[in-house]
Amino acid sequence: MSHPLRVAVIGAGVAGLAVARELRREGLDVVVFEKSHHLGGTWHYDPRIDSDPVGSDPNREVVHTSLYRSLRTNLPRQLMGFLDYPFPDRPDGDSRTFPGHEEVLWFLNKFADEFGLRGLTRFGCEVVRVALVAGRSDSWVVESRTYDSALSREIFGAVVVCSGHFTQPRVPTIPGIEKWPGYQIHSHNYRVPEPFRDQVVVVIGFASSAIDISIEIAKVAKEVHIATRSPDVKVVKLANHDNMWQHKMVKCVSEDRMVAFEDGSSVYADVILYCTGYKHHYPFLETNGIVTIDDNRVGPLYKHVFPPALAPWLSFIGIPEKDIIFQMTELQCKWVARVLSGKVLLPTEKEMLAYVEEYYQQIEKDGFPKHMTHYLHFKEIGYCNWLAAEAGLPPIEHWREEMYLESIKPLLLGTLENYRDQWDDAHWNAIIKDASLTQMK
Ligand code: FAD
Repeated sequence: MSHPLRVAVIGAGVAGLAVARELRREGLDVVVFEKSHHLGGTWHYDPRIDSDPVGSDPNREVVHTSLYRSLRTNLPRQLMGFLDYPFPDRPDGDSRTFPGHEEVLWFLNKFADEFGLRGLTRFGCEVVRVALVAGRSDSWVVESRTYDSALSREIFGAVVVCSGHFTQPRVPTIPGIEKWPGYQIHSHNYRVPEPFRDQVVVVIGFASSAIDISIEIAKVAKEVHIATRSPDVKVVKLANHDNMWQHKMVKCVSEDRMVAFEDGSSVYADVILYCTGYKHHYPFLETNGIVTIDDNRVGPLYKHVFPPALAPWLSFIGIPEKDIIFQMTELQCKWVARVLSGKVLLPTEKEMLAYVEEYYQQIEKDGFPKHMTHYLHFKEIGYCNWLAAEAGLPPIEHWREEMYLESIKPLLLGTLENYRDQWDDAHWNAIIKDASLTQMK
């Protein structure tokens, strides 16, 4: 009898846990490497911050999570579970439809316990190098280090990268910034509003975290000025707030603390807070140039998962952004596990590469910049259904699609304030009940 394929999973966040379960279900031999001493990745809140708050020093001490203390999910709890393991109500927990982050970590711990995933995980074990065994495309050397022992080197048949992509700040270059004397920080290092008391803060970015953080800071800060790339923004004081303004993007800054905006307005600011997103970063991965990161495009990756020349022995889970993350991740994991167990065949390398090329051309035609390669651009549900079909599952239920579209509306319409507490639970409960009754018939 041949030995089962030995698979190294890097990271024990949502992606690592979900793929470990699927690989084990397929009878494969799984080792999960987790550099911290706990599971949950991003969802493990840590009050500490990086030693460099902007994140530009490559030698800084890095804290993995980017959660702030008050963070609540941006999707309703029905979309924060797995398809076959829903997000439950915790007795005496946070029963809000958009719960606080503690609830998600509790859920992930429960999931890991239920499926025996802790026993597969080596905690406090950082992967420092992954490289092909010379002359092979189906054998990997994985070097890992624990905090108290020497380097260990092992051979695996496949590697699944689940190391997350919300830790390395992406920061724009602003003319004059090298001489600007104020304090700069990236949202990766934002935890609580107190340090911003009585300060004039410029927040760059307009995604959901930028809005949540701005509203929170405005409660203690002197002024908050949000700079956004949206083309039709005018300088305007935000409704319901005495001390919040919206501007066009920052044009330049100067030695006297001035921050000038592209709309002609300017302020003297104490802090610039960058809510400008994150960079993909795989410092441990050596692929002889087969997989590269170019302007945040990790490629080439067939369907955001498999590099054609190394498939299926190297894969990446959780790369697409703006999606029903847990469910998309779970479907990617089921697909990867079925491919690695030989139940599902991938197209040829040439066909996969042609697909990737066509995809790049399409996003360029649609006007999306390269750094948005892994945004699904309103094709999230189609992508999930494609994965579901590969995993031998039916398309995801219609109510999930409707609920997802409803929950991203506030972001698209710029009406993020309070949307979590204005959610129509009765309406959605009725829709879900109807859907499950129809399914039972
Ligand atoms: P992570 O959670 O980042 O886990 C990666 C793991 O890999 C970590 O445990 C890390 O320690 C480990 N690791 C990294 N490198 C190594 C190495 N070399 N060796 C060993 N271990 C390593 N998603 C939602 O669905 N809803 C939300 O409301 C939501 N809100 C968010 C808010 C913020 C501020 C952020 C930053 C993200 C949010 N997300 C949300 C997205 C969130 O990141 C995903 O839900 C999910 O946590 C991604 O899981 P992951 O496993 O891919 O990565």
